Amino acid sequence: MDSVETCPSCGHDKLLSPIGAEVKYDNDVGAVLGKPGADGLYGLDRTRFARVEWRICEHCALIFAAQRPGMASADASYSTIFGHFERRKFDVYPLPQIYMDTQKELSAELFEVLDRDGVFDGVKSVIQFRCNAGMLLEAIAQRIDSDEVYGLEYFEHPMHHAKQLISDARIAPIEGTELSNPFERQEFDLVILDHCLTHAYRPRELVDFVKSLVAPGGTIVFFNEPDHGKTLADGARYPRGINFFHKQLYQDGDIDRFLPSCGLTSHQLPHPYGRKWGSPYNSMLFVCKEGATAEMPKGDVQVSVDLLQNWFAMNRQHVRKQWMKRPFKMLLRHVNRAAS
Ligand SMILES: [Zn+2]
Repeated sequence: MDSVETCPSCGHDKLLSPIGAEVKYDNDVGAVLGKPGADGLYGLDRTRFARVEWRICEHCALIFAAQRPGMASADASYSTIFGHFERRKFDVYPLPQIYMDTQKELSAELFEVLDRDGVFDGVKSVIQFRCNAGMLLEAIAQRIDSDEVYGLEYFEHPMHHAKQLISDARIAPIEGTELSNPFERQEFDLVILDHCLTHAYRPRELVDFVKSLVAPGGTIVFFNEPDHGKTLADGARYPRGINFFHKQLYQDGDIDRFLPSCGLTSHQLPHPYGRKWGSPYNSMLFVCKEGATAEMPKGDVQVSVDLLQNWFAMNRQHVRKQWMKRPFKMLLRHVNRAAS
């Protein structure tokens, strides 16, 4: 595991002491997570405890993972654990109908919001980081009337599907920590990052890399998780609200401040991500162009501290309730098995 000693957003080295706890996962996640070995990878030893520690930047108030899998093992830990962790069934073959339906819904939603904003106007080439099953790229290719759409994806089965929709040559695996673009084309009118900032090992390096891929006058879209200020405050609904895959817990305002500090101008689009699918929160969606570089303003540290401490308190309560329900759940499983 790497220990992060400077803020991934603003680079300041004044950080609050880690806030953490031994979190007891109440389900299969604990079984999968295990404990990291000497190589930084997680084992499958069915451990139900994991120490999670978070730090807060004293300047910009960003909450971020104090420890994260090392760069060398990042891709491996991602692909072995993440599929289980997020339980979106993208590590299952064939891809289940529920996954396909959800992807279809979400891609259509995102396409509509971006199209309404004029993001695709004049665009002839696109690359999407984490292209999932390729459905958004397929819609864009039709809209811009061009085959020059490229996608990178972590998971084998969605990637296979994306290749069928787009082409073998224009879909490839993400080498997450290498920040590489394996395609011959090195410049794109539009770059879309789908849930990448929160997961980035070094978000600032990621943004620099992405800027190097944008054609002059081109556009970068950052499509991110909902405001962690809301999801963390809603501990009961979001019991696994913090994990090692969400390394930066961006709250409303964090990304707006971060992007200009990387030399990007941005505007945020309202986006009711997955409303039909059941998510009560808006995604944080930003459309960017290259611009002047601004200083990172100060954030409200106390808000972040309160949020984190409340989450840990709620998580302890939630876990206690889950453990109390365990005998009943086990009995139910037994009855179901006997009935089938
Ligand atoms: Zn900071």
